[in-house]
Amino acid sequence: ENVSKEFTVSGKSFLSAKRTLRAVDNVSFEVRRGETLALVGESGCGKTTTAWMILKLLDPTSGRILFNGEDISTLKKDGLRQYRKRVQAVFQDPWGSLDPRMRVRRIVAEPLIGTGEKLTKAQRDRRVDEALDVVGIGAKQGNKFPHEFSGGQRQRIAIASALVSRPDLIVLDEPISGLDVSIRAQMMNLLKDLQEQYGCAYVMIAHDLGTTRYMADWLGVMYLGRCVEMARSEDIFEQTSHPYTQALFSAALPSHPRDVGETIVLSGEVPSPMSPPSGCAFHPRCHKNLGAVCESMKPEHISFANNTEHTVACHLYDENGTAVRPDVKIRD
Ligand code: SF4
Repeated sequence: ENVSKEFTVSGKSFLSAKRTLRAVDNVSFEVRRGETLALVGESGCGKTTTAWMILKLLDPTSGRILFNGEDISTLKKDGLRQYRKRVQAVFQDPWGSLDPRMRVRRIVAEPLIGTGEKLTKAQRDRRVDEALDVVGIGAKQGNKFPHEFSGGQRQRIAIASALVSRPDLIVLDEPISGLDVSIRAQMMNLLKDLQEQYGCAYVMIAHDLGTTRYMADWLGVMYLGRCVEMARSEDIFEQTSHPYTQALFSAALPSHPRDVGETIVLSGEVPSPMSPPSGCAFHPRCHKNLGAVCESMKPEHISFANNTEHTVACHLYDENGTAVRPDVKIRD
């Protein structure tokens, strides 16, 4: 709920003043059990910082993160241990998350040990065997070390480790982008199957729109720390509304002509979050820039009247989500 994260950045020399970098700006969303919400956007848009706050590796500067109704900033010892068990993560690089000196069984068992789950050794072994079996590694391989497996298998081990404590939520931080293209589809299918079997929710960080289209129930598009458009996945693909989302889709999904019409080429680089543009931060690159209003006023989030789950932050729409400028054809 309205989560922001600021970092204080020191100047290059001791004489230069400290500056504030707003990495995440007033982001709100909800993830439901058994569903996947994907956050997409270019590097530096704040999606990974958002994921780290969900994982409680960083604390928000303002706003609240609620888990089953409880503000996670209030969690202490036991509550925090429970949270670590209920919320797991799979990162892009399985090498970084698998200790090369540990046998795979021990790696997978770690969340059961570290979170203080009261299980006998036999019960723990059964859980580890089951996790290794469901991800397709097989319990018999558990005595090997990570280097004895391929990249795809190592990611399966990371998934087994995330799954073994039967979490409610798994944060997937670009889980397939480090894998060979030939095995990405297998991994997406595996994640979908596991979600169906265990009913956990996923928050997925991605920049590949093809993956998100296949995996996500909800899609949030981020730009310079703001979530500029959020909707059910099928709605955002059907009624792509924010000019930045249109540009992203146009570049990544050339077969997505709806409401876009022509290929949109994004000009310029993403501005530095240290000195974001005034008004709408996207205005220097926006192909629909309305001029003074976009350059001076930050657009509020509004919901569309015909679909209140679909929100957008752009001056092209009024508070009912209808296009203000009839000459700018965006929606049907
Ligand atoms: Fe473009 Fe203006 Fe909308 Fe920003 S507010 S995305 S500059 S039209």
